[in-house]
Amino acid sequence: MQPRMQTLSLLRASEPLWFHEVRTVLKYLWAFPTTAVGLLFVPLAIMTRGQWQVVGNVIEINGGAVQWFLRACVPIAGGASAMTLGHVVLGTDRHTLDRTREHERVHVRQVERWGPLFIPAYFLAGAWQWFRGRNPYRDNPFERAAREETQPRT
Ligand SMILES: [Zn+2]
Repeated sequence: MQPRMQTLSLLRASEPLWFHEVRTVLKYLWAFPTTAVGLLFVPLAIMTRGQWQVVGNVIEINGGAVQWFLRACVPIAGGASAMTLGHVVLGTDRHTLDRTREHERVHVRQVERWGPLFIPAYFLAGAWQWFRGRNPYRDNPFERAAREETQPRT
């Protein structure tokens, strides 16, 4: 088959454009309760000399009070380097955001699937691991999925 023909048959086989657009809007709305929590950090970052940038469909913020929050308030030994809250990703600094982007984008897709249930489901999954004597962060199925999805294939 010629490349042009392949493209045409792929278009025919895929969903109509309007369906894709409606699904995208619903995905953002479904994720919005979690994104709204992340958006609370944007003015906080700006007021405390933090930075923000838009990368793809995500607002990334770092520095200032966001850095302090990740290091001092996240109950992981040594704090967190990054955290996804819907379509907002918090990072300690820009370099960390670059380094963790692929991993955090898996969490963005998880929020798009779980919507307002993401935060409670994440904490319940961690609590369940802790209850079983495992590490609530490292053994959390959301974290395991993110690690598995971003591991280089051999
Ligand atoms: Zn993670």
